[in-house]
Amino acid sequence: MVLLPHTYQSAEYAPRLAVRLGAAYVASVSSATLDACGGLRFSRAILQARLRAEVRPKRRLVVATVQIGAFGGHDPVESPERVFEVGRPADVERHREREILGREAAGAGGVDLPGAERIVTAGRGVGGPDEVSVAADLASALDAELGASRPVVDNGWLPREHQVGSSGHIVAPNLYVALGVSGSIQHLMGMSGSRVIVAVNRDPEAPIFSVAHYGIVADLHDVAPALTRLLEARRSG
Ligand SMILES: Cc1cc2nc3c(=O)[nH]c(=O)nc-3n(C[C@H](O)[C@H](O)[C@H](O)COP(=O)(O)OP(=O)(O)OC[C@H]3O[C@@H](n4cnc5c(N)ncnc54)[C@H](O)[C@@H]3O)c2cc1C
Repeated sequence: MVLLPHTYQSAEYAPRLAVRLGAAYVASVSSATLDACGGLRFSRAILQARLRAEVRPKRRLVVATVQIGAFGGHDPVESPERVFEVGRPADVERHREREILGREAAGAGGVDLPGAERIVTAGRGVGGPDEVSVAADLASALDAELGASRPVVDNGWLPREHQVGSSGHIVAPNLYVALGVSGSIQHLMGMSGSRVIVAVNRDPEAPIFSVAHYGIVADLHDVAPALTRLLEARRSG
């Protein structure tokens, strides 16, 4: 199995590689499981993430591209004899189809959701643009990045780079705190691989509780500031 990150570049070359190798090709995988017969099944979003497809490759050789952040990290396994450098083919320049005119570093202070260890996400339940600070304060007390559900972004309460979900970032941090997030399928697709999920929602039936490891049925405006105060007191004391 050849696994590649799902990027604009791999979307171009991975299918060609699959054809060259005579392999099955599965794009934009967000999870993988073994079925009863020991066969691999991949899960991927289709139709703009309205549906999730389960894919079972018919060939043993598979090229798959994986959504960045879909899988949590694991400690590396010691296997030096199986790791080898491939290097660049000598004629790589000849095959170059485009010229890179320059590179620019992203501005400092940018949001790095896929690389974050901890994320606190503001859902529509925070209530409005002035209320997002309740999530931002908890994020800062936890040294976490600030995430957002799509309505929070669509309403202009936070910029799009904060969006978590099928049409935003796919993330798998160690800790994901969802404040006032209902848990739509599109949001869950973006964060259900997180190691520990804490959800605060005043609706006990909210679907986010189906993936949460810790669920708090309460008003987030009571819980989040209390948690922030507790963390700040611990830090200073
Ligand atoms: C093609 C497509 C792509 C999409 N992509 C994404 C995506 O990438 N990311 C994404 O997030 N969504 C995406 N969506 C939108 C998605 O379907 C949902 O509409 C969205 O996730 C809902 O956001 P929310 O949970 O913040 O808001 P809501 O569904 O409105 O939920 C708000 C929650 O807050 C709770 N609440 C309210 N007040 C409080 C309070 N004071 N204290 C505690 N809880 C409170 C409510 O009980 C409710 O559960 C997409 C939709 C489509 C069709």
